[in-house]
Amino acid sequence: MKNFNINNLLRDNIRNIKPYSSARDEYKDITDGMLFIDANENPFNTNVNRYPDPQQVKLKRQLADLKGVSEKNILLGNGSDEVLDLIFRAFCEPNRDKIITLPPTYGMYSVLANINAVENVEIQLQSDFQPNIESILEAANKQTKVLFLCSPNNPTANSFEANRIEELLHKFKGIVVIDEAYIDFSKEESWLKRLQEFPNLIVTQTLSKAYGLAGIRLGICFASEAIISVLNKIKPPYNINQLTQDKASERLNTMETIKEEVSTILSERELLAEKLKDISLVETVYLSDANFLLVKVDDANKRYAELVKKGIVVRNRTTQALCENCLRFTVGTQVENEKLIEVLNQL
Ligand SMILES: *Cc1c(COP(=O)(O)O)cnc(C)c1O
Repeated sequence: MKNFNINNLLRDNIRNIKPYSSARDEYKDITDGMLFIDANENPFNTNVNRYPDPQQVKLKRQLADLKGVSEKNILLGNGSDEVLDLIFRAFCEPNRDKIITLPPTYGMYSVLANINAVENVEIQLQSDFQPNIESILEAANKQTKVLFLCSPNNPTANSFEANRIEELLHKFKGIVVIDEAYIDFSKEESWLKRLQEFPNLIVTQTLSKAYGLAGIRLGICFASEAIISVLNKIKPPYNINQLTQDKASERLNTMETIKEEVSTILSERELLAEKLKDISLVETVYLSDANFLLVKVDDANKRYAELVKKGIVVRNRTTQALCENCLRFTVGTQVENEKLIEVLNQL
């Protein structure tokens, strides 16, 4: 995107905002033997009696190494959900600006649009679950600040074609967010490598899926230094707690294990997809680039209820656009997947 100027997209009140300056922002150089009586903390050690690092320097360094970007291109959030909310608050003026989302997709975009009083213009995916470029560009105007692309997409499980995403990055005149929550399960490349090329690009990832840390809430936002520094100004000062920073750091030192787990999930996914195709109530198993399968059955409401009765909870997506009679199954362990197949065969 040429002639990109972040100031043309930011809300007026955000453009010149002065962030809250916390004690740990003002004095960061924590060395042993110094007395810290600047933050009204309890001096007795509980391992978490001190405020956490507001800039998560150690954790960002690990992530920067792992992902091959600079720390300056990273912002961390209390889950991707916080990151997404910060994007709304930075760019979308309530009761004036709009976003575009492409249903069927992740439900949080529209929830966050509602909370922030921002209109969500919905441009349905094509029947092949790919974005309709023409309709998206036609629907956009000066007030359309952000386009949300979820790839691989939840709940359809497919990735969007790279040439379509690239065209949108070139032609959409606002911020393009690519939600890569499932990128570690995908055969497609992450858009992280293209960050320098597109000043309007924000990539979000999370430790909730492939990294097995949904419980600690850690979302990652990658973007230009200009965008990151704005989001940094509006984030809550201590948004990533100490336990989360410690646990994430520890887990990132076990990349071998994480890669093995992902590879097991991928082979289980293929196995599960094959077995599902032989079940009579199953009509379609859609191709998946994620850790779940979207499956069209004969009667989703009925099968959902039957599965719950047998102790298996799946996600019923039948009310979503293009997902009539579709259930979403997360790929589990081998034992869990076999159980699912066994129970489906009994129905
Ligand atoms: C699961 C998921 C996330 C993860 O959200 P967190 O708040 O980081 O747990 C983000 N985007 C999509 C599309 C998801 O399905």
